[in-house]
Amino acid sequence: MSFLAGEYDVLIIGAGHSGCEAALAAARLGCRTLIATINLENIALMPCNPAVGGPAKGHLVREIDALGGEMGKNIDKAYLQIRLLNTGKGPAVHALRAQADKKLYQAEMRRVLEQQESLTLRQTSIDEILVEDGRVAGVRNKSGLIFKTKAVIITTGTYLEGRIIIGDVHYSGGPNGQLAARGLSESLRRLGIELGRFKTGTPPRVDRQTVDFDKTIIQPGDAEPKFFSFSTAAAAVEQLPCWLTYTNEATHRIIRSNLHRAPLYTGEIKGVGPRYCPSIEDKVVRFAEKPSHQIFLEPEGRNLDEMYVSGLATSLPEDVQVEMLRTIPGLEKAEMLRPGYAIEYDYVIPTQLKPSLEMKRIRGLFAAGQVNGTSGYEEAAGQGIMAGINAARYVQGKEPFILDRSDAYIGVLIDDLVTKGTNEPYRLMTARAEYRLMLRQDNADARLTEKGYQIGLVTEPDYQRFLRKQAAIAAELQRLAETTLSPGEKVQAVLEKYGSAPFNTGITLLSLLRRPEIDYAAVQEITAAAGLTGSPMYDVGEEVAVRVKYAGYIDKQTVQIEKYRRMENKLLPEDIDYATMRGLSSEAKQKLEKIRPISVGQATRISGVSPADISVLLIQLEQRRHGKPA
Ligand SMILES: Cc1cc2nc3c(=O)[nH]c(=O)nc-3n(C[C@H](O)[C@H](O)[C@H](O)COP(=O)(O)OP(=O)(O)OC[C@H]3O[C@@H](n4cnc5c(N)ncnc54)[C@H](O)[C@@H]3O)c2cc1C
Repeated sequence: MSFLAGEYDVLIIGAGHSGCEAALAAARLGCRTLIATINLENIALMPCNPAVGGPAKGHLVREIDALGGEMGKNIDKAYLQIRLLNTGKGPAVHALRAQADKKLYQAEMRRVLEQQESLTLRQTSIDEILVEDGRVAGVRNKSGLIFKTKAVIITTGTYLEGRIIIGDVHYSGGPNGQLAARGLSESLRRLGIELGRFKTGTPPRVDRQTVDFDKTIIQPGDAEPKFFSFSTAAAAVEQLPCWLTYTNEATHRIIRSNLHRAPLYTGEIKGVGPRYCPSIEDKVVRFAEKPSHQIFLEPEGRNLDEMYVSGLATSLPEDVQVEMLRTIPGLEKAEMLRPGYAIEYDYVIPTQLKPSLEMKRIRGLFAAGQVNGTSGYEEAAGQGIMAGINAARYVQGKEPFILDRSDAYIGVLIDDLVTKGTNEPYRLMTARAEYRLMLRQDNADARLTEKGYQIGLVTEPDYQRFLRKQAAIAAELQRLAETTLSPGEKVQAVLEKYGSAPFNTGITLLSLLRRPEIDYAAVQEITAAAGLTGSPMYDVGEEVAVRVKYAGYIDKQTVQIEKYRRMENKLLPEDIDYATMRGLSSEAKQKLEKIRPISVGQATRISGVSPADISVLLIQLEQRRHGKPA
């Protein structure tokens, strides 16, 4: 007789970046929640780069924060350096990136989990999902204990049948010397869930004390850093730099002469790796014409001597790794603290999921994170918060909460996964979004906080702060539109300073801000020069400036979004029998049966479903609406 170890509403398998967000969301929405993980010491572990954010990833973190999630707040408490990237480009691709103090990040996240009401932490390895009548009923751990629950969220990352590969050495294991999760994959397969095999890799770590920084180029953080969370007012710390160096011909020669020992080329590695995070051996082979590749030395912690050698991910034998490290300027005498390695792991084919991240074939079973075929802490956390919200809503009998491609990068990410699937670890990029001018990192709150508040996840203080900011933006836009300046000497002098043409008749501040050479700071200077009051509201300046300067593009994209939403709102009934639907191509029948899209809009994004098939669908829907037989 198995021992019943507890009863919960929602049970999360895994305390990585997706598991933490999922657990906090479910508990904050009032569910009795258990988060089970192989090792409590490794909550929110960053097994790869000690960084959060970057293009598209920074947008995700802001969206998670705007919805009431934790990652943004957590990195603002544990950053070593913050930079705003792509400032030379348009606002759609401006992206925050922070170097993280890995240990502090984990400690802060663990503290938040431990202090969260209705949330219980448990160190245990889950081996089996228990299902009754097509619905989740519980899980069994490695010792045979039963945990009853109404919903389960699988967030097992890179651990399912994890296999570590370094040269010709390979063994069962998870990241950073941890145990792999063995057994759960079998249970999922028995439930009819299809799994695939992916691979990812990480670079060696070196001892800071043995690096000659004089031979590298310092990369400091921003003097006045911005923060990820909309609730972070100030979090100034002494920032630590990163350091830039390069591989060279000597490095590449060592790699080329050892490709016969590289598991990537000997066939030892079977899993598919991330195209956008290639190993160094892959870069040397694929970009043979390049004489050098950038290497960033990134600190892993304020009180750690470990440095991450970004750009040198590898699974070459350890002796080769040491040799190649020693050819890189600054690392001639470097001591390798940890070797780079590759890890292969099982993942869930994501087209088996609904847009709510619930499995199509088992009610109450959800999946989020790297186990869905993505790569990246931020991609994982974005899925985690959505799975947590939807598991809670499932338990509470509420409609799923879905974000579409015009709402958020989270919507783009999940829609890509469940509608198109992925043949390699999926990494989010701004280019994947159709409406990226609307999905900026600076307006994530304007897009999502109201939704997060309506579903009960955004706290009252955060909501009130948001309302005050929106009111400030509206007031500032009104002030700019209603303030007309006359051509005074001091004002003209400021315009001249910014290389902007003088004006002869009255002009509004808004019109001035539309000028490309005039930014928000200049408008504040002009206001002062005109002897006008009107307190500068720098914390809304970015948003105000973007709304004014990109008004035309924003209007155009708003029209496109309305057109997109019309197709998204054409919902497809769950009981449609595509196999017998006349007029559809056989490929479309097969694909529509497999994906079972929730809307005509989603159907248009399934590869193999043609515009002709969509017309058939639309006619069928119309006939159904008029009660005519299909
Ligand atoms: C070697 C390596 C290199 C990487 N390189 C990159 C990169 O270059 N770029 C990038 O963006 N991302 C990279 N990543 C990926 C990044 O680490 C992940 O995307 C991210 O950690 C995924 O978060 P997650 O929550 O899905 O899973 P994870 O962070 O992997 O967490 C999974 C959690 O599940 C727990 N768990 C697993 N199975 C069980 C079980 N049966 N029972 C109980 N608990 C269980 C584990 O203990 C862990 O807490 C790399 C990861 C690794 C390991």
